[in-house]
Amino acid sequence: PPIILWLRRDLRLSDHPALFAACQSGRPVIPVFIHDDEVAGLGAAPKWRLGLALKHFAQELTEKGSRLILRRGAALDVLRALVVETGARSVLWTRGYAPGQIARDTAVKAALKADGLEVQSHPGHLLFEPWDVATKDGGFYKVYTPMWRAVRDREVPAPVSAPARIAAPDVWPASDRLDDWQMGRAMDRGADVVAQHIHVGEAAAHGRLGAFLAHRVARYKSDRDRLDMDACSGLSENLTYGEISPRTIWHAGWRALQDGQAQAEDFLKELVWREFAYHLIYHTPRLESENWRPDWDGFPWQGEGDAVQAWRQGRTGIEVVDAAMRELYVTGRMHNRARMLVASFLTKHLLVDWRLGRDWFADCLVDWDPAANAMGWQWVAGSGPDAAPYFRIFNPDTQAQKFDPNAGYRKMWLAEASRTPPQTALDFYKACPRAWKLSPSDTRPIPIIDLKTGRERALAAYHDHREKQ
Ligand code: FAD
Repeated sequence: PPIILWLRRDLRLSDHPALFAACQSGRPVIPVFIHDDEVAGLGAAPKWRLGLALKHFAQELTEKGSRLILRRGAALDVLRALVVETGARSVLWTRGYAPGQIARDTAVKAALKADGLEVQSHPGHLLFEPWDVATKDGGFYKVYTPMWRAVRDREVPAPVSAPARIAAPDVWPASDRLDDWQMGRAMDRGADVVAQHIHVGEAAAHGRLGAFLAHRVARYKSDRDRLDMDACSGLSENLTYGEISPRTIWHAGWRALQDGQAQAEDFLKELVWREFAYHLIYHTPRLESENWRPDWDGFPWQGEGDAVQAWRQGRTGIEVVDAAMRELYVTGRMHNRARMLVASFLTKHLLVDWRLGRDWFADCLVDWDPAANAMGWQWVAGSGPDAAPYFRIFNPDTQAQKFDPNAGYRKMWLAEASRTPPQTALDFYKACPRAWKLSPSDTRPIPIIDLKTGRERALAAYHDHREKQ
């Protein structure tokens, strides 16, 4: 009987332990992707990008003699129907670790097992399973650096190879048409603009890794915070859809380190930040939606309002913040330092609830990741583990001077910043939501808050809140 391979965020052929196991069995494999509530709940940009990933991966499967079967519905119902249609006796998948994924997968596993099926969940999304990394007293890590020290020298299994062919069943079950899913429907911004900046699929991901290691890793530590430089790998987008495995990146990073690229270690450290985010969300699912530090509950965050909308629109009047928000619409990504700056400005200068920022990023980022995004927001807001202390309030102007010394980044994204704006800055007007009705001839926004006043207001709010505790 065939094996059902339930694909989720693991759209690759190489280093795919579940696919590898399915192929090793010698039985026909039926790869299926299910459009369930989790997919329905994705933000506009990640859903659109997932659609492109699926289209690409379906083609790759075809080249291996296989197919991607698409079905819509609750995962358990779809899998049960496929079992009946195909006579499959086994269902395999790659584990997910976000709270909703765990709840769904646990229920599906129990039900299929009760039906008498063999069910296997495999690693592949992470370097280390969250339960395999523990502190000396058996707890989990709440601070990054000790976790890094604990895993740095661990043996990470070598990537498994891609199958040469994937055995096909005699008869394929029916599949939905991807176009009918309209994965890009909610992208009411210019998807064609964002499309110029993304790198879809496994070959593109490997290309990115290769280019990064050949040209940028040597100066990664020195330059990664520079807003005006392309110093990072860009791999978060591919990791989100599983178009490359973290083990593949880890081994390549280690090889670079051993070949004398000292700054490759800093790159490996960043990969472990991703692990840390999953470690935290696995052990404390509240990271996703509640203040990780309960003493932040009751803090008088501001809600929806004009300030939040100005932040979303890149019209706060604070140049580096606005540049970053515009980079987000044009590319579907944002530089890591810029993410910290805009998050700090929103949660500190504007005192807005970090969840509003989290949700906006979840709608706009093509590399949206449930764990890294929640951790990033809580880290900046101060409510998270290993967080920046409340009194550390980034001054956007000082940060811009330091990390964008020649204003290259601001000019790249702000049409108002130069007389002859570059295409990137103009593209913002095609890529932002149409309902905003913004135009390059708009006057330059005046700052919505004086930076000093905002900082003092935030500090006062924190003091007040702590006194009430
Ligand atoms: P590189 O510098 O090349 O780093 C290599 C890899 O390490 C990345 O691809 C990523 O997987 C991982 N990594 C690097 N920095 C971090 C970090 N701070 N936390 C976790 N993993 C990290 N990252 C996402 O992947 N998705 C998100 O939704 C996301 N939201 C964020 C929200 C906020 C408020 C903040 C401050 C950070 C967020 N990050 C998120 C983390 C980080 O900004 C991105 O991972 C990084 O910018 C990706 O670019 P890169 O692939 O070129 O990274």
